[in-house]
Amino acid sequence: MTKPYYQHWPQLLPKELYYPQVPLFVLLETSARFYPDKTAINFYGREISYSQLQESILHLAGALAEMGVSKGSRVAVYMQDTPQFVISYYAIMRANAVVVPLNPMLVEAELEFLVKDSGSEIVITTADLMPRILNIKPNTALKEVIVSQYQDYLPEKASLPVPSSLLADYPVIEGVKKLQELISKELPAPLVEVGPEDLCMLPYTSGSTGNPKGCMHTHATVISNTVSAYYWMVHTSATVTLAVLPFFHVTGLIHSLLSPLYAGSTIIMLARWDRKTALQAIEQMRCTHWVNISTMLVDLLAAPDIEQRDLSSLMGIGGGGAPLPRAVGEKLEQLTGLKYVEGYGLTETISQTHFNPPHRPKLQCIGIPDFGVDARIIDVDSGKEVPPGKEGELIISGPEVFKGYWNRPEDNENAFMEIEGKAFFKTGDVCYMDEEGYFFIVDRTKRMINAAGFKVWPAEVENHLYKNPHILEACVVGVPDTKRVEEVRAYVVLKEASRGQVTKEDIINWSKQRMSAYKYPRQVRFVDSLPKSASGKILWRQMETEAKKEFA
Ligand code: AMP
Repeated sequence: MTKPYYQHWPQLLPKELYYPQVPLFVLLETSARFYPDKTAINFYGREISYSQLQESILHLAGALAEMGVSKGSRVAVYMQDTPQFVISYYAIMRANAVVVPLNPMLVEAELEFLVKDSGSEIVITTADLMPRILNIKPNTALKEVIVSQYQDYLPEKASLPVPSSLLADYPVIEGVKKLQELISKELPAPLVEVGPEDLCMLPYTSGSTGNPKGCMHTHATVISNTVSAYYWMVHTSATVTLAVLPFFHVTGLIHSLLSPLYAGSTIIMLARWDRKTALQAIEQMRCTHWVNISTMLVDLLAAPDIEQRDLSSLMGIGGGGAPLPRAVGEKLEQLTGLKYVEGYGLTETISQTHFNPPHRPKLQCIGIPDFGVDARIIDVDSGKEVPPGKEGELIISGPEVFKGYWNRPEDNENAFMEIEGKAFFKTGDVCYMDEEGYFFIVDRTKRMINAAGFKVWPAEVENHLYKNPHILEACVVGVPDTKRVEEVRAYVVLKEASRGQVTKEDIINWSKQRMSAYKYPRQVRFVDSLPKSASGKILWRQMETEAKKEFA
């Protein structure tokens, strides 16, 4: 059995958390009442106060309602981290609808699937990404596309270097609604018709079946992690958060956006990762908090002048999504005196289910269960709980666990199990727990590749590869990579007629057109055949083990 989290906490922290029984957008509304003039977002020097942010959200919600968005409608947001993302995200919920956050790296084939699968009616995007949406629009049920320009929220005089991609001139296509014009109509927001148990967002994850699946999160599941992250990272209204994790993904959403805004603090927002800009932001804006993916911290600490840089404002630094190399955790402590607070979670649990206690973290460890989480480890074959020290699959029950996959009844049956009348989500991660109740990840039962924190699902990549006219069979595995944690490698059997005619580069270039930059196989190996089981299944574990031997 899991030890309760409070055994590890200083006496004064709450034993149980109170989760406000309201829709998620009320948390921001409350911060705007307390801190109307305070800077909520600083985007390369453009400051947006809480009251300005809230006003834009209400006006966009009004415009969305006028366009027919109502309770349960799905509206997708397809853009990088920008103030526009924040306004759109809250406005969709405030219009009683459901947010579908889309990775801005997605290419058309991937986008089309997600827009159709979610049944999105509207996509809100930026001008650079708009052509992709307009290309897929005729194949979907999309009614409208709303477009925004980066310039609308960039300062006249930037205080941090703005990425050139944000400054480029993107043609505005006529006939598409403009976000700014919708906001300036100043329409009143509609009546609130949603409560804590209503659906509020559908973040997508993939899985063993190959196609991405939407995770049904309610206002209550998202609030639970917004509030608990606030305690774990010790946020206050004085916190200054460096926000550079993508908001479409749950870790960035909770830790770089929702939790800091719940605290009434200031977000220093960067549209994308860039070591030089991040270091400058920390020094110049005196950032106190930074939740990251370990690969970012590895990169930051590798800066040649890192010993001379002023990191003294940092008070809380942590992350999850991938393990942090021990040496990097130690270097961080030597440079700043801070211990890295590693956490663990999934899209299905809207970020953290585990966190290291900030005052007593362990390295290479995912920590102890979050507030209200019942985490257990079961034997994969028998389904029985195992004692401390023994490995098995991690299963989770708690307030942040999603309500199932959108329109996927079969997947839902396999995703959960029942113990003592409680539903537990099966994470597919193999862990053990030590005697103190700290959890450690050692393996996965699921087929997943961790590419710099972006999760790649081999079955999905194989689905794409099988559409290539030259490919007879394919098996995709993850191989270790010093910078990116893991790299995607495809073993390919070519059709007889294609042998000698097609190169590995041809396959890689073809893949690039159909899959996001983090997803396509960067390594291709041609093989004569793939190992198969008696029933004809490709033995991917065997291929993966063989591949990993090269790196031993
Ligand atoms: P996602 O749904 O994209 O958030 O990915 C969830 C997966 O990321 C988990 O099932 C784990 O395999 C992996 N993961 C999350 N946090 C960690 C961590 N701290 N260390 C290692 N793997 C992690």
